[in-house]
Amino acid sequence: MSKGKVKPFSLNLQIDVPLARFTTIKIGGPARYLISVTHESQLNDAIEWAEGNRINWIVIGRGSNLLIHDEGFLGLIIINAIEYESWTIEEDRAKVTVGAGTNLASLAARASKKGWGGLEFACGIPASVGGAVCMNAGAHGFEIQSVIDQVKIYESGSYHFLKSAECQFTYRSSRFHQRHQVILEATFNLIKDPKALMRVKEWREYRLKTQPWKEATSGCFFRNPETLIEGIKWSAGALIEQADLKGCQIGGAQVSTKHASFLVNAQKATAKDILELCARIRYEVFKKYKVELQGEVRFLDQHASSTRTI
Ligand SMILES: Cc1cc2nc3c(=O)[nH]c(=O)nc-3n(C[C@H](O)[C@H](O)[C@H](O)COP(=O)(O)OP(=O)(O)OC[C@H]3O[C@@H](n4cnc5c(N)ncnc54)[C@H](O)[C@@H]3O)c2cc1C
Repeated sequence: MSKGKVKPFSLNLQIDVPLARFTTIKIGGPARYLISVTHESQLNDAIEWAEGNRINWIVIGRGSNLLIHDEGFLGLIIINAIEYESWTIEEDRAKVTVGAGTNLASLAARASKKGWGGLEFACGIPASVGGAVCMNAGAHGFEIQSVIDQVKIYESGSYHFLKSAECQFTYRSSRFHQRHQVILEATFNLIKDPKALMRVKEWREYRLKTQPWKEATSGCFFRNPETLIEGIKWSAGALIEQADLKGCQIGGAQVSTKHASFLVNAQKATAKDILELCARIRYEVFKKYKVELQGEVRFLDQHASSTRTI
C-alpha cells in the first residue's frame, strides 16, 4: 500500500497503535495508522499519502473532547503537534501567533504572567489550540472566537487564512466540523490587563473545587440546553443532578460525583459503557424534564471520515 508520491516508511507511520493513551478519558481501540506531526510539510505528506491510498484520515489535538470506538479507527490518525509562538506588541495591544499543537492552557498562563489579557478563560481547558478553535472552546462566559484574529488552515493541498467571522463559530462548534480542513495556526488579539493573572488563579481554583480534575474524563458530555424550564435556564449538569444520576455507573463508566455533566472512566470503561450511560442520562432527563440533551463530546467511529456528536 504505497500509492502516491509519498511512501509510508518515509513518513514514519506507526501501525496498529492503541488510542486510549491519546485521549484524556483513556478509552479507544487501535488506529490502523498513526503519525504525530511537528511540521506543516509532514502533515501535507501524511494527508497526500492517505488520500492517494483512499484511507480515511482525521486530525486530533490533545484528545480532551474525544471518545474513540472500542474497535479503534481503520484509517490514519494525525496528531497535530505543530508548536511555535511569536509575539507582536504595540503599546497596550499584542498579537500572539501559535502553531495549532500548542497547549492552550499553558499559553493562557504565559500570556497572563506577561500581563496580557484575553485568554484567561482557557487556563483550565486541557486543549491544543487547533482543537479549541475547532470546538470554539469556552468557559466563564467567554469563547475562543472572541479573541481570534485569524486562523491558518490547510485544505486540499493549499493554505488559507480565515478571519474569526469566517470560521462559522457557534456554541462548541465551527465550520471545521463540516469541512475537511485542518487548523494549522491561530493568531489571538490580547490587551494589556494587570488583573489577568489574578483571574487565572481564581478560575483555576474554582475548577479544582468543582470538576473531577484528577479523573479520566472528556469534560462536559452534554451542552447546556437552550430550553427554559419554568422560566429558568438550567445547565446540563444541574438537570442530570436533579434526575438523581450523580454517581450512576454502567460498566466502568460513571457520572462524576463532583460535576454531573462530566462522565468519568472509573474502572476500565469501554466506549460502549460510556454510550450506554449517555443513553440512560438522556432517557431519565427527558422523562423528568422533557428536555433532549445534546452531546458536546465528539465520537470517532471505526470507518468515519470525521467525528460526530454523541
Ligand atoms: C477536565 C476537562 C475540562 C474541560 N473543560 C472545558 C471547558 O471549560 N470548556 C470547553 O469548551 N471545553 C472543555 N473541555 C473539553 C476540551 O478540552 C475542549 O473541547 C478542547 O477544545 C478540545 O481540544 P483538543 O485539542 O483536546 O481536541 P481533540 O479532543 O483532540 O479534538 C476535538 C475535535 O477537534 C478536531 N480537531 C482537533 N485539532 C484539529 C485541527 N488542528 N484541525 C482541525 N480539527 C481539529 C478533532 O478532529 C475533533 O473533532 C474539557 C475537557 C476536560 C478533559
